Amino acid sequence: MALRKLLKKLEKYTLLFTFELVYRHGIRMKDLVHAHKNNYDKNTHSFTINQDLIKVDEDIHQLIIEHDVIPDRKLLVTTFNDRITEIKKWFGREYFIYKDIYQTHKLHYLPCPICETPTKNSPSLWAILEYAEDDSQWLVCKSCALRGEI
Ligand SMILES: [Zn+2]
Repeated sequence: MALRKLLKKLEKYTLLFTFELVYRHGIRMKDLVHAHKNNYDKNTHSFTINQDLIKVDEDIHQLIIEHDVIPDRKLLVTTFNDRITEIKKWFGREYFIYKDIYQTHKLHYLPCPICETPTKNSPSLWAILEYAEDDSQWLVCKSCALRGEI
């Protein structure tokens, strides 16, 4: 994606981090405030947001570790609004707003029916699981398929 490359090139890692949380994990604008140091578990790579454990992927974890993109404490929602506005400025799109990133997440990521993890709609991340009892087939994420559990 062009936006991701652009933000990396500009070394706008905090903006990239904010973008990735919304694009990859579908975090709501009001919930982005929970992405701070006291709420991040480095061992499990996860934030606790509204009692849900959001396990971030390796790219986001690296941003946190290498570029110090999360603040020590909770920020205001307006900070994230400002970040989206800044992304819009760099991206050069007048009507690019939070909702666009969120909608793109909704279009590109599907929850796995077993583990409920939002997984990108890329064929290499999914597999078909077939149940011998009734020959039914299910599209599940690769890690669930490899575990072979129901
Ligand atoms: Zn799964």
